Amino acid sequence: MSSPKSSSIGKGTQLVTGGRSGAFGKRVVNPPVWRASTHLYPDCASLREGVKSNADGNFFYGRRGAPTQWALAEALTELEPGADGTVLYPSGLAALVGALMAVLRAGDVLLVQDNAYDPTRNTAMGLLKRYGVEHRFFDPLDTAAYSDAFCDRTKAVMLENPGSLTMEMADIPALAGIAREKGAVSLIDNTWATSTGFPALERGCDISITALTKHIGGHSDVMMGAASAGEKLHRRLRQTAQQLGHVVSPDDAALALRGLRTMGVRLKQESESALAIARRLSARDDVAHVLCPMLPGAPGYELWQRDFTGGCGLFSFVLRGRDDAARCRLIDALDLFGIGYSWGGFESLALPFDVEPIRKKMSWPKTGWGVEDRCGIRLSIGLEDAGDLIADLEQAFAVMNQD
Ligand SMILES: *Cc1c(COP(=O)(O)O)cnc(C)c1O
Repeated sequence: MSSPKSSSIGKGTQLVTGGRSGAFGKRVVNPPVWRASTHLYPDCASLREGVKSNADGNFFYGRRGAPTQWALAEALTELEPGADGTVLYPSGLAALVGALMAVLRAGDVLLVQDNAYDPTRNTAMGLLKRYGVEHRFFDPLDTAAYSDAFCDRTKAVMLENPGSLTMEMADIPALAGIAREKGAVSLIDNTWATSTGFPALERGCDISITALTKHIGGHSDVMMGAASAGEKLHRRLRQTAQQLGHVVSPDDAALALRGLRTMGVRLKQESESALAIARRLSARDDVAHVLCPMLPGAPGYELWQRDFTGGCGLFSFVLRGRDDAARCRLIDALDLFGIGYSWGGFESLALPFDVEPIRKKMSWPKTGWGVEDRCGIRLSIGLEDAGDLIADLEQAFAVMNQD
């Protein structure tokens, strides 16, 4: 079989058939796990020829990959309309940092969404600063202030939608459009929806980055990241990743590819359960805010409807007037939800969060939350039955409210 490239085919079909154009794709369903540092050449002439063609599909040395990694990269490129290629990284954060390093140099200014994933913010404040790149945080909901934040040296903007933890939806086509007008490269952390729910390049972004650790791996057993872009930027991503020595193992690439095949049904199911749970939570008196852009009436719903073709099981809520002790009582009483970082696996997780100490431009009064309503909880809804998850949450709320 060949990989249908037509965008008229459904996402589920694309997820199943992607990345199978190579020699193996026609003969086996899954590419072999091809473990190799060294590829052998028949003679010196082919060895010399081999180094010249730096592209997926050409054997050279393990750092440039082998058929398992190429199949995954090809599948991801096919899923991102407008992409010429995809570079794989050993984690989602490595993809974010690798992409930033590919487009920035000393003296440049980087704009970072104030509600970006915390390690992304830390890279701007730490590593990039040490290498001479300045950063400015901006409120993605304030387009005028964002536009004013550009200067002659602004060379890149780091976007993410929805924002980490507080799940604000920004108008990405507008923000990416402004970046383009000002001559800056826009990068987006597209982990929440993936390209199947938000075709980032089609919506105006230049580089689409995904933590494959989350939905694509999908089983909490692999860490990986990817960045996809058009021809020119893909070449820069690739060169920088090779200079940084980034490489992913074929075993991990096979796991990510396996996860990818079923991602469509998982995201559909998770989204449906998350929506049912978000509805229940929004009816409770002890919940002040449900931060779930897929929920009609919730903040960001209109933009989600306009720009996205899918969602996922990750959303947050804020307790009304409760303190941290009450919040911990609730989370500790949960039976089916694990307590831990990450998300996008088949199992449900709960995480307490406090954003006030980590935000610079999106301070508390701007969130519209009450002064007493500060205790946030993020849920990653997995594939358990929604009814069981709702019952688990309800008994945990009862434990919280006992004192
Ligand atoms: C988890 C996550 C990452 C980083 O992925 P890792 O594989 O854990 O490094 C990046 N962005 C977002 C939004 C994430 O949730």
